[in-house]
Amino acid sequence: MGPIPGAREELDRLGRALRSQLTLMIDDLTPGSDLSLLFLNEPRVVDWHEPPRYQYAAEFFTGRRPAHVSATDLVSRAAALLTSAGWRQSTTTSREDPGRTPRIVVTGRHDNGCTIEIRVADGNGPVPPSKVSFSGRTPAMALREPEEFRWPEPIRTAETVTSGYVLCYECDGLGRCPGCGGRGWVPDETHGRKNCRACHRTRVCLICRGAAELPVSDLSSYQRGYYPELDR
Ligand SMILES: [Zn+2]
Ligand SMILES: [Zn+2]
Repeated sequence: MGPIPGAREELDRLGRALRSQLTLMIDDLTPGSDLSLLFLNEPRVVDWHEPPRYQYAAEFFTGRRPAHVSATDLVSRAAALLTSAGWRQSTTTSREDPGRTPRIVVTGRHDNGCTIEIRVADGNGPVPPSKVSFSGRTPAMALREPEEFRWPEPIRTAETVTSGYVLCYECDGLGRCPGCGGRGWVPDETHGRKNCRACHRTRVCLICRGAAELPVSDLSSYQRGYYPELDR
């Protein structure tokens, strides 16, 4: 339980290493790019399975190939920069869509788990031929041990319900959403989590709005149907 010692520091270190390699490559390959648009400030959750996994990522930062540099030369230079910094690299041509501009993709992988991808437009087409896009990501890391969810204790019980009130028929005194236990989400095999459909992420029971009990004087005749003892 609790944070994994050193995990956040390690992820931050990888984030800084990724940023510095990306910065170096952007400055070299597409000089004059606005590096303030290279968002790598906070890690984001990319896998919500317990425990959540965090990653620093830069997606499709766009620069312009200088007019005097050919796409082929830029690709060779990108590969050389990766190799000299200790990254393994490979080059492929991607033709996502026939009729669209083919892209040459240089992929770099570091032993620390970081990846960088540089996509260079090759030839004429809808994508400006000078467009170069840079993406990079650290490995996705868990920052804490897996936690088992503990179902909350009810806010009201038959013993503590206020005089003149009845326990909420929907949550039976729980107060929190009875569908998710107050998390706002429920576990999901594919995505790890999905929004709770019972409370729409409000986390509280939608009938009592979290009070766990309802004043008898406000019950509708429909609601009174849940409490046959009131009419005895
Ligand atoms: Zn819920
Ligand atoms: Zn309720």
